[in-house]
Amino acid sequence: MYKLIPGTRDILPQEALLWQRMEAACRSVFSLYNYHEIRTPVVEEMSLFNRSLGETTEIVRKQMFVINNKDDNYVLRPEGTAAIVRAYIENNMDKAGGLVKLYYMGPMFRLERPQKGRQRQFHHIGCEAIGSSDAGLDVEVVSLADALLKNLSISGYIINLNNLGCAADKEELALRLRRKIKDLLPKLCADCNQRYDSNVMRILDCKNPDCKTALEHLDLDESHLCAGCRKHFSAVKTGLDSLKIAYALAPHLVRGLDYYTGTVFEITHSGLGAQDALGAGGRYDNLVKQLGGPATGSIGFAFGVERLILAGCGLKPAENKITSYIISLGDNARSSALKLLDTLRRNGISADTDYESKSLKGALRKANDYGAKFVLIIGDDELKKNTVMLKDMESGEQREVKVEDVVQELGKDLVT
Ligand SMILES: [Zn+2]
Ligand SMILES: [Zn+2]
Repeated sequence: MYKLIPGTRDILPQEALLWQRMEAACRSVFSLYNYHEIRTPVVEEMSLFNRSLGETTEIVRKQMFVINNKDDNYVLRPEGTAAIVRAYIENNMDKAGGLVKLYYMGPMFRLERPQKGRQRQFHHIGCEAIGSSDAGLDVEVVSLADALLKNLSISGYIINLNNLGCAADKEELALRLRRKIKDLLPKLCADCNQRYDSNVMRILDCKNPDCKTALEHLDLDESHLCAGCRKHFSAVKTGLDSLKIAYALAPHLVRGLDYYTGTVFEITHSGLGAQDALGAGGRYDNLVKQLGGPATGSIGFAFGVERLILAGCGLKPAENKITSYIISLGDNARSSALKLLDTLRRNGISADTDYESKSLKGALRKANDYGAKFVLIIGDDELKKNTVMLKDMESGEQREVKVEDVVQELGKDLVT
């Protein structure tokens, strides 16, 4: 018997109802903020991610789902941002209208050891605003993330906020980190010792508990920022304050991907355990140019859908009930039952019938399982009179209705 690939999951109908609710709730918030959906392929060229995320990142080094073809190396996308920037440039979206505000939902893939809150195929809901460096846009994006969580009835999260600064500031930050971390190296894991030379900022992302303890008291602040970046950061903080959006300053927050610059944020939730990030995002002001587009500021974020569910998304799944269930008794009644079934559906009344040759009792039970409001029974008697027996499943009442009146009768009851 075939089994799932480790780190992947089936989302069965009952759970899919919750996903649909969540997606619908997010779509309505994105619409409020004037973000529009974009759907990009799940496969992209491998080098797109190598270049944008950074050759030394964990994702690129260890977690890519590579598809080797004859001539090309493709990967299943590990995240959304780089692919959307690719689409933005390729479709000349910059020329069409300046600032573009996009959102997306869909599966992402990373080849990692599966654990709670960490799947190989997982799902992101995220957004990208490409085409502006305005600090007000940072405020909008953080407030949008906050609004999404509120709309999903998730509480108890913390918005951790930092500013990495522009490219020059990031270099300055790296220099300072090297200086500060040098003496701590013996206490850090082998990976971190390697990162010290290849990409020192990534040390702050290390999940190793020993590294976390060693780095806990590392004193970091805003002093690596140039005057311009400091002003931007201050405007973002003031903007969030004025919207009464609570945040925690997190000078240790660097985010694991190379493309981040300026504002970065991560939203954590204590209910998630070791993998405590619900979602994260930030500015990537150099990425569009780096991938061959115009120099333009951009910011975005993504939430992990599975993590939103783990954090206790408070939405109730929609109920998937049908309005009517038709039971035909005998072969003669069958064809008129199937015709009525079709008529109901064409008139927008959800309907189903028995395809398993069940007894009357069994069919009624099935109608009950489906949550049918009405059962329509057609036997030889009804067939002769061109009627159906209409049974209200809640009250148990039964009455005879002419076939041509069924749509109207059910429609009437549905309105009341
Ligand atoms: Zn700067
Ligand atoms: Zn480490």
